[in-house]
Formats: sequence, C-alpha cells, structure tokens
Amino acid sequence: MTKNSLAVVVAAYNEAAALPALHARLERTFAGLDLDCSVLYVDDGSRDDTWVVLRALADADARVSVLRLSRNFGKELALTAGLDLADADAVIVLDADGQDPPELIPEFVAKWREGFDVVVGTRTTRPGESWLKRATAAAFYRVMNRVADTAIPADTGDFRLMSRRVIEALRGLRERQRFMKGLFAWVGYPQASIAYQRQPRIAGSSKFNYWRLWNFALDGITGFSTAPLRVATYVGFTTAMLAFAYGGWIVIKTLRWGDPVQGWPTMMAVVLLLGGVQLMALGVVGEYLGRLYLEAKQRPLYLVQEWRPGPGAGAGRRQQD
Ligand code: UDP
Ligand code: MG
Repeated sequence: MTKNSLAVVVAAYNEAAALPALHARLERTFAGLDLDCSVLYVDDGSRDDTWVVLRALADADARVSVLRLSRNFGKELALTAGLDLADADAVIVLDADGQDPPELIPEFVAKWREGFDVVVGTRTTRPGESWLKRATAAAFYRVMNRVADTAIPADTGDFRLMSRRVIEALRGLRERQRFMKGLFAWVGYPQASIAYQRQPRIAGSSKFNYWRLWNFALDGITGFSTAPLRVATYVGFTTAMLAFAYGGWIVIKTLRWGDPVQGWPTMMAVVLLLGGVQLMALGVVGEYLGRLYLEAKQRPLYLVQEWRPGPGAGAGRRQQD
C-alpha cells in the first residue's frame, strides 16, 4: 500500500465565518508534510455564504475540491459524500469550526505510517461545551457500548484518519440511517488513538441542539443493536407473568371470600399499566419498522448540486446511491 497522498474531508453547514481561518491553518499544516495533500470541502446546503467562501478557496488553491449538496442532508451524509469522492491513500475527517485542530494532522500521519489503518482522536477536554452536553455524551457511550455489538470508542468525534482500504470498505456500507462513528468502528482494522484537547469553535454556534442529539443517539442505538426489541420482549413477558399470578390470586380470593363489587382502583391501575407497557413496546417496534421502511425505499443518500474536483479527488465513487 502506497502512502503518498492525504486528503482532508470537511463537512460545512453555515460555516462561512470559520472556513477561511480553518483553511489557513490547514495550509500551514500541509506545508510541513511530505505528502501530496488536498482538501475536500462539502457544503451541506448552507444558507449563508459558505459556498461563495468555498469557491474562493478553491480558486485560490489548486489542492481544494468543493462539493455542494442539493440541500442540507446533515453531517453524517455530508461526510459520506466527501468520503465517496475523496481519492487519496489516507483521508482525515475534521470539523469546519476548528474544534478539531488541524495542527495535529502530522501526529495522525505518523501513526498511519507506523501501520495503523485508523487513527482516532480522543477528546480529553471539551472547553466551550456545557457539563450537560458532556454528561449526556458520556451516558450515551456507556449505554451504546452496553447494547451494541460493535464497540464504539468513547469520547471520539469524527476527527480521524483512515487508510484507503478503510475508506473503500466504508463505501460499501450504503445504509440510509447513518451513524458514522458506528460505521467507522464496524469496519475494524488496526486502530490507534491520539489524545487531544477539543478547542472552542472559531465562530458561529453548534448545529446540534439536544433534540437533534437525542435523535442522533436513537439512530446510533437502533443502527447497531436490536437490544431494545429484546427488552420489549422481556418487559412484556415479565408483565404477563405478573398478570397471570395476579389473575390466579383473584380466582382463589373469589372462591374463598366471594366477590362483592370492589376493586375499581386496582382495575384502573392494571389497565393503565398494561396499556402503557403495550404502547411502549409498540413504539420500540415502530422505531425499527420505520427505519426499515426508510431503508426499503432505496433513495439516494444525497444529491450533488455542484462538484469542482481539484487534482486530489474525483476517482472515488461517482454513483450517488
Ligand atoms: N454540519 C454539517 N451539516 C449539518 C450540521 C453540521 O455538515 O447539518 C457540520 C458543521 O459545519 C461542523 C460539523 O458538522 O463542521 C460539526 O457541527 P457542530 O460544530 O455544529 O457540532 P458540535 O461540534 O457542536 O458537535
Ligand atoms: Mg463543533
């Protein structure tokens, strides 16, 4: 396997204010690397001047390729689009807002040269992020690793380097509900990690509110585990056993002491409990069924509005499905 070229893939949504600063830092980093470097920026349907800024960067620097999606598809799909089109011996993914410092790229490259196929950045500190965000993130990883069959390293973002064969493996995973961290982990191959301090954003604000994060977590769990379905079965089974036992007790009680009309509160409690348990289990089944439905439609993952390849891109997967 040759190790001559490196492509950086950046997904950007409304990052016009942050991109020029990020690109300047990337250029400085590239200057210190003895590799053929290139950058692929993906404009994920931004509403601000991101596309104008990106085109200007591409005009000024031949190593820059820019891709514009037809609308906002979300970070996971924007990254997928970038990884489909990047063409290099290794690809690094980082955030457009400067939270993943490009200055660390040489360390990633060094690990890759040692023979690792995947080098992940592990966040040691996350300044500028609330304790609630950190706590929910930690809880999510704990649950995820309990229930999922694929071990997903905690405290890793999407900041990582992947070798060509990993990228090629990823291109074969065309599922619609994409939880990239899970897909990255699913692929396997020798992995190393680099600890780094997450920086505050250069400009703008986070695009992930708690509702979006919650849905992201649901996608992660349902995408990599069917444990909730099994839990629904066990909860149903346990309630049924308790209900049978209670039913038996009612029969015995009636035979021994007769049956004066009574028990309205118990009745309500049981009906409500069972109704609740049933709806919950149905909801869990529904989550999976809905995802199956979306998957069955086989829609393309993303649509490209404009693609301006620089020299370091283009030979990747062209097809968009
Ligand atoms: N992003 C994207 N599409 C979206 C939302 C975000 O491409 O719909 C990009 C965004 O521009 C940034 C990265 O994903 O480069 C991470 O987003 P953000 O910084 O808002 O998330 P956080 O760092 O707060 O988790
Ligand atoms: Mg960020």
